[in-house]
Parts: sequence; C-alpha cells; structure tokens
Amino acid sequence: MAESPITAVRASAYTIPTDAAESDGTLAWDRTTLIVVTVEAGGCKGLGYTYGASASTSLVHSVLGPELHGRESADIESCWSAMNAIVRNIGRPGIASTAISALDIALWDLKARLFNQPLVRLLPQARPRVPVYGSGGFTSYDEKTLCRQLSDWVAEGCKWVKMKVGRDPGNDMGRVRAAREVVGTAGLFVDANGGYVRKQAIRFAEAFADLGVGWFEEPVSSDDLIGLHLIRDLSPAGMEIAAGEYGYTPYYFRAMLAAEAVDILQADATRCGGITGFLRAAALCDAFQIPLSSHCAPSIHLAPALAAPRLRHMEWFHDHVRIEQMLFEGAPRIKDGLLAPNLSCSGHGLTFRRADAAKFEV
Ligand SMILES: [Mg+2]
Repeated sequence: MAESPITAVRASAYTIPTDAAESDGTLAWDRTTLIVVTVEAGGCKGLGYTYGASASTSLVHSVLGPELHGRESADIESCWSAMNAIVRNIGRPGIASTAISALDIALWDLKARLFNQPLVRLLPQARPRVPVYGSGGFTSYDEKTLCRQLSDWVAEGCKWVKMKVGRDPGNDMGRVRAAREVVGTAGLFVDANGGYVRKQAIRFAEAFADLGVGWFEEPVSSDDLIGLHLIRDLSPAGMEIAAGEYGYTPYYFRAMLAAEAVDILQADATRCGGITGFLRAAALCDAFQIPLSSHCAPSIHLAPALAAPRLRHMEWFHDHVRIEQMLFEGAPRIKDGLLAPNLSCSGHGLTFRRADAAKFEV
C-alpha cells in the first residue's frame, strides 16, 4: 500500500433518548450520547464512535485531530501513542480516552478499507464467531418488563442474560428470583454497578448463588480493589466477580488483575483506547490467565473480540444495540446467540446513517 497521510479528522455528537427510563444501582438516565468520528486518508474514510460526552468532539477538533493530521494513517500504533502523549496535561482517562478510542477505531476501519479487506482479516482472528449475553434488566423496569426482556434474549439463543441490581437492595432477591423463573436454565448474571458495600455484597453473593447466578459484576465500586478481592475470595465457587468497564488505560487493567480483584475482566474498546487498547487488555488477560468479556458497543467489539485469545463472550447491551441497529447500516445481528463478521465488506462494515441521526445532533 502506498503512503496515505491523514488529511481530515471530524467529530459530531448525537444525544438519543432511551426507549424507557433506565437505571442501575448507582445511576439513572433517559438519553445516551454517541460521538461519531471520521478519519480520511488516501481517498478513504474510516468511521469510529464512542458513547460519552459531547465534549469529546471539541477535543477531537482542537487537540487530537491536529495531532493526527499529516501522520501516516496505517501507522496506528504511532498515532495511538501520539494521541495519548498529547493529552498528558489534559488528563488521559475519561473524555480524552473516549475520543482517542473513537479515533483509533476509525484508523483501524480506514486501514482495512485502504487494503480493501474486512477488519477481521487485519487482526489475528482466534475464532469464527462470538457468543453474546443479553444485557439490560434495568432497575427502572417493572418485573413484567424485566422478565420479558430477559426471556426474549433466551428465545434468541443467548446462553446468558444480565440484569441490574443494587438500587433497592430490599427488592433485589425478588427481582432475581422472578428472572430465574423465566430464563430457565440460561446463565443469569447480576450487575450492581458498585451499589453495595463489602459485607452486604458477600451476603448477596451467597444468596444470588443459591439462585444459580454465576456472575456478580461490580458488587462494590470498581475503585475498591481490596473490596473486590475480598468478595472474590469469599464468594461461592460458582460465582465469578467481574469488573473493568471503567478501564481507560492498560495500567488500570494491570492493577486490577495484579490485585486479584476479578475472576473475569471486562474491557470497553470505546473507552480503553479503541481496538489497540482492547488488544492490550486482551494481552494482559492472557498473561494473567483470566478470561475477558467485552463491555457494551457490540458492533465495535465484534472484530477485536474475534481476535482476543481468552475472550469468553460479548455484551449485547440493550441501549447500544438499539442505537446501533437504528443508526448504523451493517450493525451485526444475533443468530443462535452468536455474532459472526460480514466478510463481504471492507473495514468493520458499518456505515453511519447520518441523515437519520441529524435530528439527534447536539
Ligand atoms: Mg456494568
């Protein structure tokens, strides 16, 4: 491939109302902001996105775009390092990392398009398909809505489903029991989003395990590595402790793994530095011999999830699935609980429906 220096970098933000009020153990929301970026080189355009704050667009236009301009687009590692270096005094985790993630995803898409290959062909593919788990079960849902959503995913072939807990601990056992009844023998996961305190979480781990729950996500804040370690050690053997969705750097994941805080690590490519960052998280999981599960944004995770050596499954998160099916042509769909790449498209195969999104632009 000839040299293809970056000629244009653009970003725009869209705030999309949810289809119903959504809440978890520690947050409630009724809208989601999608930040879409494009990077152009060699007559091609790469597309990336993240979910976060519209402030990311201004960082792309004022700092990250100018830093990328003129750099060789195929040198993704070099672009990634330059973007991380330039935000040193701005603060790398958070808004900067989400913007970098979107741009990294666009660079991978661009490179694959320049080679006229599907993105999965540029990555070291480990498997042909990836299982997903249905994820939603918000604490704002009444029991009927909760049960219908979870059982719909099981009917679509999902082997596991995840629901939120931790907002009103007095109700949690009743909701989880109702969910267990409708999902039958499917795996049932709970996510407290850090809504419990340590000893309370240990008690819930035992009670949830009695209902066959096998995954307890963020029983306490993921900033409490000692607490997570304690809960991991004291939980029944069939109960895995999961966390990692707020990881913005490889060093965050390394600290979480070194603290033996989780049985399974979660990483989000739209936060942790894009596909480049996700592959670093995957390498750390391999080194620590801990399985990996992708967090949210399923259309973005498909290609890197196919490549990650210890990947167990991907999250099929209701809110993002809805947005991706609505606004991205080519967004993958579940078949028998699995996602498979479309090998007939170059890049990640997604096209942004800009005209449809215009009414949400902020
Ligand atoms: Mg979570």
